[in-house]
Amino acid sequence: MLHRTTSTVVTFSTLVFTAAPVFADGPFYGDPPDATHPWALHDMNRPQPPIVKSGSFSTPEQPGRPPSDAIILFDGTPATLDKWEADKNPAEPTKWVVKDGTLQCVPGSGYIRSKEQFGDCQLHVEWAAPTKVEGNSQGRGNSGVFLPGGTEVQVLDNYNNPTYPDGTAGSVYGVNPPYANALRPPGEWQVYDIIFRRPIFKDGKIVDSGRMTVMENGVVVQDSTPLEGGGGHKARCHDHPFPDKAPLKLQDHGNPVRYRNIWYRPLPARACDGGDMGVMTPEACTAKKLEIAKMIRADAAKLQGLDKLRRSMESLCYDQDATTLKQVESAVTAWLAAVKQSPAGQMESKKGEILQMREALKYMTQFKFLPADFMALSEIAKITKDNGWDPK
Ligand code: MG
Repeated sequence: MLHRTTSTVVTFSTLVFTAAPVFADGPFYGDPPDATHPWALHDMNRPQPPIVKSGSFSTPEQPGRPPSDAIILFDGTPATLDKWEADKNPAEPTKWVVKDGTLQCVPGSGYIRSKEQFGDCQLHVEWAAPTKVEGNSQGRGNSGVFLPGGTEVQVLDNYNNPTYPDGTAGSVYGVNPPYANALRPPGEWQVYDIIFRRPIFKDGKIVDSGRMTVMENGVVVQDSTPLEGGGGHKARCHDHPFPDKAPLKLQDHGNPVRYRNIWYRPLPARACDGGDMGVMTPEACTAKKLEIAKMIRADAAKLQGLDKLRRSMESLCYDQDATTLKQVESAVTAWLAAVKQSPAGQMESKKGEILQMREALKYMTQFKFLPADFMALSEIAKITKDNGWDPK
C-alpha cells in the first residue's frame, strides 16, 4: 500500500494552500469512480471504517468478551432469558432454563427464538453437549442454530459419533458437510463463529443465493457455502427468498444441550442489497456518485481560493455538473493568470502549487473529466519547462 507524503505545506503570497490528504490520496491519486464503482481507488472521501473495540477469546472455564458493537442475545444472566421466547407459542415464556450461567434446552419444551429480528450477520454461539454420553448418530447431543430465515448450522455431539456427513456438527444441515470435525469431547464448550448472508431476490429473480461461513472452534468448516434454499430434512431444498429480518432459533431435539455467550453483529449491506461496497448497478452507482458530489460541493462552499477550486474540481469525478465544470474552468484560468503575473523572481516559490495543479489537471484530462485539450495544462507545461522543473 503506497501513500504519498501528505505533510507538504506550501505558502503563497496571495493564497495559502495546504496539501490536505484529499489532494494527495483522493481522486487525483488512484483510478477514478466509474460506472459501477462510486469511489475512486484510495478515495479519502470514503467514510472511515467505524471503530470497534475487539473482544476476547473464550476459555473452557470462561466465555470471552464480545466486541464493543455486538448485540447480546445471551450473556449468562437470567435477565437475558427475556430476550427469548417460545417459537411455537411466543405469548408463553420459554421453558428453557438458565442454569449456572448457561441457557439449557429442556427436552420437549420446543424451539426457542430471539425476540430480536435481524438479517445478515456475524453470529457467535457457544454450546456444550451433555457430558454423559447417551444415544448415537442424530440422537446424541442434538440441537441446532437456525439462522434468520431458517438455515440450520447443526449442533450435534459428533465426537466419536459418525452420522450422515451433511448432518454433522458444523454442517449447513441438508446442504453441505463441514470441511472437518473439530469438535471437543462432550461436556466441553464448542465455539461457532458464523458469517451469514441471506439469499437476495430482485423482481422474483435470484441475485445472490446467500452463503455462510462457519468456524468451529477456530477451524474453518464452511467457506461461503451457497445456501441453495437453506437446506432441510430429507427433501432437497431450492433457492427461495428469505425474510430481510427474522429471529435466531435454537433447536430442541430432545437433548439437554447448553448454550452460552450468544451475540451478533449486523453486517453492512451487499451492493446487490442497497450497499455501496463492491460492484454496484449503474443506476445505484450514479445515485451514490451524485450523493458524494453533493457532499464535496457542500464542503467546497465553505472553502476559499485553491482549496475551494480543488474540492470543486474533485466533485467532477463523481458528477459532471455543467455549472461546476464552468466554475472550475474559469477558476483555473483565473489562477493561471495570477500565476503568470508573478514577478519572475517569485515563480520558484510557486513551484509546489503549480506542479500539484499540473498533476490534478493531468488526472482530470486523462480520465476525461476536463477536455483533453484543456488550455491551462499546456500553459502549465510551458511554465514548468521554462523553469527547468521537468524531470531530466
Ligand atoms: Mg439439529
